[in-house]
Amino acid sequence: MADCLFCRIARKEIPANILYEDRLVTAFADIHPQAPVHVLIIPKAHFDTLNDVTAEEQQLLGHIVLAATRVAGEQGLRDQGYRLVANCQASAGQSVFHVHFHLLGGRNFQWPPG
Ligand code: AMP
Ligand code: ZN
Repeated sequence: MADCLFCRIARKEIPANILYEDRLVTAFADIHPQAPVHVLIIPKAHFDTLNDVTAEEQQLLGHIVLAATRVAGEQGLRDQGYRLVANCQASAGQSVFHVHFHLLGGRNFQWPPG
């Protein structure tokens, strides 16, 4: 989508600290980190929310999770642990309407989340 913030980051029209990238996904540092490690993993293709990802994208979803675990390992979080979350719709906290997963680590987390 032409004016979507995360599409523009994926196209490198807006600067971001990109930590991993391949044909399908881009992973970059969150601009307002909520933990010592806070990385966003996005599909290069645009989907507004998780509700818009269909069964045809099963492989893409698996690819995103594997990219996230790869970045977690590169960030030294493999044994310490990390949280991988996606907010779907505004009431869950989604503020950017291009599907993304938050990879958070480097501190302890509480459950249930706020
Ligand atoms: P969410 O609230 O789940 O939609 O997450 C959106 C995330 O995008 C937030 O954690 C923001 O801090 C982050 N964010 C917004 N703009 C940028 C940007 N230009 N570069 C990196 N992260 C961003
Ligand atoms: Zn987009």
